[in-house]
Amino acid sequence: MARIVRRALVAVVVAVLPVVPGEAGGVQDVPISAPAYLSMFDDAAFRGVRRPAAEVLDHFGEITGDAELDARIRRAAEQRGYRRQPVVTTELVWVDGRRLQAPVAEAWLELKAAARADGVALELRSAYRDLDGQQALFLRRLGGRTSDAAIDTTLRFAAPPGYSRHQTGFVLDVAQAGVEQGGFVNTAAYAWLSAADFAAPRAHGFVPSYPRDGERMGPDPEPWELAWVGAGRIACATGVTDPTGFCDAATSERADDISWLADLGVTVGCRPGRFCPDDPITRGEAASLLWRLHGAPAPAGGSPFVDVFADDVFASAVAWLWQLGVVHGTSPTTFSPDGLLSPDEAFALVVRLVTLDDRPAVVGIRGPVPAAGFEPGVVGALGVQVSRAEFASVLRAAVAV
Ligand SMILES: [Zn+2]
Repeated sequence: MARIVRRALVAVVVAVLPVVPGEAGGVQDVPISAPAYLSMFDDAAFRGVRRPAAEVLDHFGEITGDAELDARIRRAAEQRGYRRQPVVTTELVWVDGRRLQAPVAEAWLELKAAARADGVALELRSAYRDLDGQQALFLRRLGGRTSDAAIDTTLRFAAPPGYSRHQTGFVLDVAQAGVEQGGFVNTAAYAWLSAADFAAPRAHGFVPSYPRDGERMGPDPEPWELAWVGAGRIACATGVTDPTGFCDAATSERADDISWLADLGVTVGCRPGRFCPDDPITRGEAASLLWRLHGAPAPAGGSPFVDVFADDVFASAVAWLWQLGVVHGTSPTTFSPDGLLSPDEAFALVVRLVTLDDRPAVVGIRGPVPAAGFEPGVVGALGVQVSRAEFASVLRAAVAV
């Protein structure tokens, strides 16, 4: 499991979204089907989590300690629609006394502020839970019973360890102060959250974890649980397209920087038609982007990194940048291409690139690339992990001063 470090949440950036709930023609209240809501969360491109092998999860996600009983519980859980969830590999941040993934914590504070502005007091009742916490919760519910009926009753209200969305750090349980969760569906808070197909949560990247009309979702539907998927995935689910060619670009507060990259003709989507602006950028992706921005030149040879394979999409990028001295490994023989880029690494990469003596020309940019004049401050506050949109801003600030 990732080591969880207590860290203050600082520099909360309030996203300025181009579309607000209820705005005529906006995408925020276009109805989304239950399967589409569910698949957004299950999106395999999710960053900040990893999907370990089932045996690994079984080992760390022991339920009762009785292997036969645990297997029976897992079978019953999967029949109800529970799925094994990935585990956190990043540093979570503390917000309102609980832990969440960094972008989720920011989005939660924005959502709470938006509710407050409308006279609705939202509270964070639950957020990240580790496997031990989930095990304790499940065993408390099970109460030592072992019958199939007791297991199924327990599964209506609690996930076994390894199957809770809470272990990802991407979901949270909302409450209205002073109201028990059982009565949440009748509160002003729920009315505000669910209005116009969850327009308000959607404006901040949240979707209902258990959408109306959803089937086989695991527990009995919990109206108080929201899952953060990012505004981009929501925009793409509504089918609205953008002039950049990316259905999720306009939702980013850094849409201008994404457009700048798109206008250079550098294909930098995370997959066809998508930019994934809110996803953290990996070291491999960052190298790839720098390299393509320079016309994707063929490297003179390979790199010394044993974790970069010849058929990786970023292999030529890493080799070319390594030969120029722009990228370094995480050790003499490893590059860690799946590692997430930190703000320091992002700035170091572009500073090294723009201060090279024989700088390769940047695609589509006339005149010399400025060797000096790159000022990290112009990029604004970056998250703990640099998102793909933030890296676009760093690049633009570095080469288009
Ligand atoms: Zn929950």
